[in-house]
Amino acid sequence: MFIELVDSLRCLEPHDETWLVAAASRMDGRHLIDGVLGCPVCRRTYAVRNGTASFSKRQPDEADRDLTTLVADADPVHLTRAAALLDLSQPGGIVVLGGSWAAYADAVAELGVAHVVVLNARGSEASAQEVSSIVVDDRLPFGPAALRGVAVDGSAALPSLLSSTALLLRSRGRLVAPSDAAVPDGVEVLARDDRVWVAERTVVASPPVALQLGVRR
Ligand SMILES: [Zn+2]
Repeated sequence: MFIELVDSLRCLEPHDETWLVAAASRMDGRHLIDGVLGCPVCRRTYAVRNGTASFSKRQPDEADRDLTTLVADADPVHLTRAAALLDLSQPGGIVVLGGSWAAYADAVAELGVAHVVVLNARGSEASAQEVSSIVVDDRLPFGPAALRGVAVDGSAALPSLLSSTALLLRSRGRLVAPSDAAVPDGVEVLARDDRVWVAERTVVASPPVALQLGVRR
């Protein structure tokens, strides 16, 4: 878990949106390997073990068992397609990959245009410093408009995850899901084929946010 990603993470409990406070027991460079993320409002804690932060309500051992280890797909044609669907032409932001999309994590990270977060998978030994992994159930631990793109399928493409994730995308952020998944509110489908649909977050009407587009902290 890349330490700077912690700024974008939010407690999953139903209270006012709040950031999480990291307490590290082991770091590797700028990566949090072991430690805990704590919510200052409700005191819920989220464990970080072996570099993976768990936002699951399941027991850590059970969630660990379900973690797949990434097998990288380095086929340039597949990567080009993934980059196009996620609209990775401009740098900046966070991209979340779940299910079979996680196989592109290393390759997308190497493009150097986004920080990559994989769901329910352990990064490969070779994972670039730009890949973080988190364990989730049916919601992502980010605030509104925090994400630039999300691609999920398989067990990661739960209807509840898709509907909640749509609201976490920034204006024109991309959501890629299996073609048979219901399209949630808040996004408009741009294209679909027999495998996936790709949708775009409808523009969130908020002038202050719009004025800050493109400004990086
Ligand atoms: Zn909380």
